[in-house]
Amino acid sequence: PAKPIFPEQLPAGLQTISNIVAVSSCKGGVGKSTIAVNLAYTLADMGARVGIFDADVYGPSLPTMVSPENRVLEMNAEKRTIIPTEYLGVKLVSFGFAGQGRAIMRGPMVSGVINQLLTTTEWGELDYLIIDMPPGTGDIQLTLCQIVPLTAAVIVTTPQKLSFIDVAKGVRMFSKLKVPCVAVVENMCHFDADGKRYYPFGRGSGSQVVQQFGIPNLFDLPIRPTLSASGDSGMPEVVTDPQGEVSKIFQNLGVCV
Ligand code: ADP
Repeated sequence: PAKPIFPEQLPAGLQTISNIVAVSSCKGGVGKSTIAVNLAYTLADMGARVGIFDADVYGPSLPTMVSPENRVLEMNAEKRTIIPTEYLGVKLVSFGFAGQGRAIMRGPMVSGVINQLLTTTEWGELDYLIIDMPPGTGDIQLTLCQIVPLTAAVIVTTPQKLSFIDVAKGVRMFSKLKVPCVAVVENMCHFDADGKRYYPFGRGSGSQVVQQFGIPNLFDLPIRPTLSASGDSGMPEVVTDPQGEVSKIFQNLGVCV
């Protein structure tokens, strides 16, 4: 296992960041990346200096969800550092911007790549670095949490019972690492059609997490075709519709982190 790195040994690239927030889920496909990206752009809209680190080496979503002009990370050869790319003022680093095709890697290699991307990046002064965590609670996630002094974690789930069980694992991982879980986002909780509200995945797993683990904030994010379409188009919904229902939810989440 990787040795924990304490603040006095904190990698240079991370020393100028005030808050590092993990957005985490134990399963893939629950909307973690969507939430990480919209949260980041909401914080930027609120006036913060923000970066996003897409730690999902196997399935990086950041290159799809945002559309920076420069889609390849630049290196500072002299200092051997990575310069983040940028879109609408938010700094971005993702393995998907690393220039090569996705490689087949074993766990320790993935941890190495994450470590390198994260710690040799010149983030500059940031109020928030949002980390889009790889799904799960295995070695890669643990190593990441040990390298980075997280200030908060946001847990993303969908209302199914199965994902509740997975979330419980995530909450336990963060609590062992003494990282406060400040919010649970229950994504895809309902949709409205023909004047009626539908709950396709059932109800209540988010509130179960909140009760069981004492997490102070629960947010319901509805199923919205626009949220998915904006994710695919490279422009987060909070950017295209800053006054909309979704943006209000993210503003409330932004206050919690
Ligand atoms: P994860 O990071 O957990 O794998 P993503 O954020 O990539 O999940 O989301 C998976 C898919 O679901 C994406 O196509 C995304 O646009 C879509 N999606 C996520 N949340 C919602 C939502 N609330 N409404 C509609 N589509 C959503």
